[in-house]
Amino acid sequence: MSLPTPQPGILDIAAYVGGESSVKGVERIYKLSSNEGALGPSPKAQAALVATAGKLHRYPDGGSTELRKAIAARYGLDPTTIVCGAGSDELIGLLVKAYAGPGDEVLYSEHGFLMYGIYAKGCSAVPVTAPERNLCADVDALLAAVTDKTKLVFVTNPSNPTGTYTSAEELARLRAALPSHVLLVIDAAYAEYVDRNDYTTGLDLAQNTPNTVMLRTFSKLHALGGARVGWGVFPPAIADVMNRLRSPFNLTSSSQAAARAAIEDVEFQALCKTHNDYWLPWMKAELKALGLHTTDSVANFVLVQFPADGAHSAKAAHAFLQNRGLIVRPVGSYGLPEWLRITIGTGEENQMVIAALKDFLGAGS
Ligand code: PMP
Repeated sequence: MSLPTPQPGILDIAAYVGGESSVKGVERIYKLSSNEGALGPSPKAQAALVATAGKLHRYPDGGSTELRKAIAARYGLDPTTIVCGAGSDELIGLLVKAYAGPGDEVLYSEHGFLMYGIYAKGCSAVPVTAPERNLCADVDALLAAVTDKTKLVFVTNPSNPTGTYTSAEELARLRAALPSHVLLVIDAAYAEYVDRNDYTTGLDLAQNTPNTVMLRTFSKLHALGGARVGWGVFPPAIADVMNRLRSPFNLTSSSQAAARAAIEDVEFQALCKTHNDYWLPWMKAELKALGLHTTDSVANFVLVQFPADGAHSAKAAHAFLQNRGLIVRPVGSYGLPEWLRITIGTGEENQMVIAALKDFLGAGS
């Protein structure tokens, strides 16, 4: 008997495992493993979502029209260049599906976001990674890895899990040097947190070149990961492809309403940003004072290095924190087994992490 066989590459996928959200035997949990906004969603977004309950028998607006208009108004964009997805994950998947086929190559940095490779394999395409320099994307290494088969290049800016970023100048240099048929996707999931003069979300390239896309999400600063809302700015021909390919009703009416209220709540966005502006440098300084090395993250998380093995390894630290209900993210699946990624939480959570790490380091010495 012959059984249905999945397409080549699919059984090579290691299924994506999100940040843990519970610990056996530990009642009170502090989840700092998925880079979710520390303050939760805007109260206005929550109210808007609840208000949709009575209309759930109706299909949503398939084009997310009001949401796209609200995003366009917030950032001064043309709504026809915006496409929304069920999380930016969906948009990443659609781009790979649209532009990469069997044997084609999808290129990204060594420690890039796992979903690029997963979606590539799902299309029988080949994920290719380029080495990084000091845990930063290296434009020269990316360019050196381009072949005749390269169809898409992903740059995560700032990157996850390293938190480092690629400057506007370097991104422009990458775009200019890539062959024009190669689609450059700038995944700016953490853009709202960045405060560096030489940073760009990639919007300028998405608006001014026919082969660059910028992706954003409501899962981080807007803290609507549970609603699954992502969006992007696409050159017209690529927006057209996305609209042909996406599911007809890819965002629920509740998600559209919540995201719309969130993008309009500029005051709450500023509050979330101010929170991160205070606690990100605080965390870095406290970790440094404990003798721990971090990357220069500009996002809402820190990446912390531990000794390769022994009592103070990342694995031991992860277990120690977990016993106190503090869930952080091991990043061995990103090729960084000595590191842990810790999301910036509430003030109380951040102080608990530092106190726990102090005890952890003290306990083993
Ligand atoms: N890109 C990056 C770099 C991310 O870190 C994430 C979330 N972990 C995503 C995309 C996907 O976000 P979402 O699907 O929740 O919008």
